[in-house]
Amino acid sequence: MPLFVDNSPPGQCIFCKLVAGEIPAARVYEDALTLAFMDIGQVNPGHVLVATKRHAATVLDLSPEEAAAVMHTAQRVARAAEQAFAPDGLMLAQFNGRAAGQTVFHYHMHVVPRHDDDGLGLSWRRQDPGAEALQGYAARLREALAAPPAGTA
Ligand SMILES: [Zn+2]
Repeated sequence: MPLFVDNSPPGQCIFCKLVAGEIPAARVYEDALTLAFMDIGQVNPGHVLVATKRHAATVLDLSPEEAAAVMHTAQRVARAAEQAFAPDGLMLAQFNGRAAGQTVFHYHMHVVPRHDDDGLGLSWRRQDPGAEALQGYAARLREALAAPPAGTA
């Protein structure tokens, strides 16, 4: 099945139109910063997307308030899915950029009820690079965290 990819400019993307009510969606919940609605693809029944109301492409473009609001809404939806669909587990998944599997470039998080036998695959290749490499990666991230974020200096 070909992958749907939405490359529309900000304000005209499919999720902006959905937030604006210009296209129909099975809405689940909304607050000031987020909207939760059913994913049309439904990898399992109860599969919900939590999107920011404002157009932001990836996690890098969110305000701290939006980032917190998305997780707050995702948790509420997860609790509702737990009640409504009695899954064996719940998966929260969030993709940033084409290489990570993002297909609609308006920030969203998937809340997916999971079942022991649902057959959903997730490729997760372990590499075990060793303690020295881990310390090196951590040092690079600590250095980046200590620098002022881009655009705020
Ligand atoms: Zn958008």
